[in-house]
Amino acid sequence: MIIVTTPDATEAQIQHIVDRIHEWGLKTEVSRGAMRVVIGVIGSEDVIREKPIAAIPGVESVTPVLKAYKLVAHEFRQTESLVKIGGVTVGGKEVVLMSGPCSVESREQIVSIAQDVKKAGAKILRGGAFKPRTSPYSFQGMGIDGLKLLAEARAATGLPIITEVMDTKDLEAVAQYADCLQVGARNMQNFSLLKEVGRSKLPVMLKRGMSATIKDLLMSAEYILSEGNFNVILCERGIRTFETYTRNTLDLNAVPVLKKETHLPVVVDPTHGIGLREHIPAMALAAVAAGADAIMLEVHNNPELAKSDGEQALMPQEFADLVARIRRVAQAVGRE
Ligand code: PEP
Ligand code: MN
Repeated sequence: MIIVTTPDATEAQIQHIVDRIHEWGLKTEVSRGAMRVVIGVIGSEDVIREKPIAAIPGVESVTPVLKAYKLVAHEFRQTESLVKIGGVTVGGKEVVLMSGPCSVESREQIVSIAQDVKKAGAKILRGGAFKPRTSPYSFQGMGIDGLKLLAEARAATGLPIITEVMDTKDLEAVAQYADCLQVGARNMQNFSLLKEVGRSKLPVMLKRGMSATIKDLLMSAEYILSEGNFNVILCERGIRTFETYTRNTLDLNAVPVLKKETHLPVVVDPTHGIGLREHIPAMALAAVAAGADAIMLEVHNNPELAKSDGEQALMPQEFADLVARIRRVAQAVGRE
């Protein structure tokens, strides 16, 4: 439900509206525009419907959000959400680069890659300690030891960390080390996990499931926001189509559609989206042109020895060259 206040509503009236809604056991989200204040009401639709909200002084209109997703909808929050990861803001003018190896493999590997990507312009270190692998016989990640090495790489470079949490039972441990939790494509509809990360204080990067529609992605994000965590970034990482030449089909359509539908920032992951090293730069540049707020790129200092996703990892120099080109495209589309 969206409440719009009258243009002449006083601060006292606005506060009274908010207090009254809280008394009814509902929550609020206040967005201040130039003329009017928009108050989103969060809670059971049935409870909201029976309350005489329109009778409160200062209320001009009360409108239900008709879409299935509500808190993530742009109607609910008119401004663009800025999500802070460590000291880095995602969703503002700057196109943020998040980078690192697919998996943390050793202290030397993660610290060296973190230093390389930082030097090239990455603002966030992304590396996996708990890895969702298609085969149970593939490397499953270093687990807690990997988290500790990520923390060492953060101490060495100052870069905040994004890392994946695959299971509710690991959340407490991952949250001790991470600056942002990643929910991977395979867990996009793990509703127990979504609710748990929704109760966390940490930001969450939610990756689109490989067979999920844009609406499915938004509904999954709604689970996280409905638990009180509005610090969510959506990640387009490619979907399954009939095409087999590439690992996935990067759905750049999702970028402008998501920017219209939701206030949440949008990240594009061309690495998993195309899965072929030589074509990643083209898709990264296209993602920036399409309006991505951040780009996620896997980088490895020795891809032929990588324990996961070596064939799609950029070498540090390739990453640095790409960053220079990303900067030029970002400037061309009015970003930094
Ligand atoms: C990853 O980011 O390393 C990863 C496994 O991605 P996805 O969940 O998109 O497959
Ligand atoms: Mn990977």
